[in-house]
Amino acid sequence: MTRASWQEIQRADSAAIWHPYAPATGGADVYPVTSASGVRIKLADGRELIDGMASWWCAIHGYNHPVLNRAVEAQLHDVSHVMFGGLTHEPAVQLAELLVELTPVALDRVFFSDSGSVSVEVAMKMAIQYWYSTGKPEKQKLLSLRNGYHGDTFGAMSLCDPVTGMHHLFGAALPQQLFAPAPTCAFDAPCEDADIAAMKVLLEQHCNELAAVIVEPVAQGAGGMRFYSPQYLVKLRALCDEYDVLLIFDEIATGFGRTGKMFALEHANVVPDILCLGKALTGGYMTLAATLCTARISSGITAGEAGAFMHGPTFMANPLACATALASIRLLLSQPWRRTVERLHGELSAGLAPARECSNVADVRTLGAIGVIELREAVDMRVVQPMFVERGVWVRPFGKLVYAMPPYVMGTADVATLTAAMVDVVAGL
Ligand SMILES: *Cc1c(COP(=O)(O)O)cnc(C)c1O
Repeated sequence: MTRASWQEIQRADSAAIWHPYAPATGGADVYPVTSASGVRIKLADGRELIDGMASWWCAIHGYNHPVLNRAVEAQLHDVSHVMFGGLTHEPAVQLAELLVELTPVALDRVFFSDSGSVSVEVAMKMAIQYWYSTGKPEKQKLLSLRNGYHGDTFGAMSLCDPVTGMHHLFGAALPQQLFAPAPTCAFDAPCEDADIAAMKVLLEQHCNELAAVIVEPVAQGAGGMRFYSPQYLVKLRALCDEYDVLLIFDEIATGFGRTGKMFALEHANVVPDILCLGKALTGGYMTLAATLCTARISSGITAGEAGAFMHGPTFMANPLACATALASIRLLLSQPWRRTVERLHGELSAGLAPARECSNVADVRTLGAIGVIELREAVDMRVVQPMFVERGVWVRPFGKLVYAMPPYVMGTADVATLTAAMVDVVAGL
């Protein structure tokens, strides 16, 4: 294939494409990529960037991994896609078995969908249809946390932080949900009753109309990169049981080892009624998500009026994606991934610590293979993005947050380059 020049790609991009959270004319600010391998993204002008983002939490094994490549190629020769209504296939069956085995025992049924946001929509529909089926059709609202992020489709967006999620732009088209304050108890601190008092009041007042509470366990991602005490989840589970409200965990960002446990819920040993997985599920190769639920939910819905769960995406359980997810999870399990995440944690913590000296830095925090520098003021992306690229790293800040969640395969020297660049850029603002 003859390659277009950097400028040609940018010009064509600018003319026709809309990028995420970007103006229609943002094409001049995007960097053309020609390939990626390991932790390096290669740009069209030959420069290589060390990837600090794992393509938004996904590429845990890095890019162009031989094991994942082989899984895609092998599946390609069997079947790339087939409808899931009335048909099934081994990649889906084996992946579902593995997800059920890896997650808490009570979560024993898997619904596949095509993206994280859709898996959240599915979780919301499961919760609402469960209550409808069991004679409580008035339980339709959800309660989530401020600073939360659950996706960009309407249902998922209605659960995101109302301010950073810009709910006012969508007016009455957006379902109205309830919000509790973000937990303030630190990850390594206990959670006092006072820390969850506002949540308790909301549950007490609204339990009759509440289908479920949804949270990102232990680590809030795109809504603020905040970490909180696992004990909060223990108390939340008890409150949900007390007020007969379902509990949904959104582990789309935290799943598959990112916080140091296979799933963040293991920090608290709390079992939700419904669990959402996505992002790193396929090792970043393609889009796939899963919503798991307990027998209480699946049998409640099945015994109800509809007799079936009313959802079914066209690309449900896509065989290529399922085969890649299987290979990615098996690859993870075949490695000492806990030690790797611990190493990354140590290196991110040590590497980012000097940022604490900067007067524009409000906080530096790490959990598992996540490193965050929180600034006092929001950064100007158009200024900051080229500063990272000049230093040979790919970091994409948002708002006041400059953060990294590298692929697990990143070596010590590359982590040092990455964190040094983050500190250097922050110090130069
Ligand atoms: C990214 C994310 C989503 C949405 O997933 P998409 O695949 O982008 O639709 C939902 N919840 C959390 C916690 C996420 O990090």
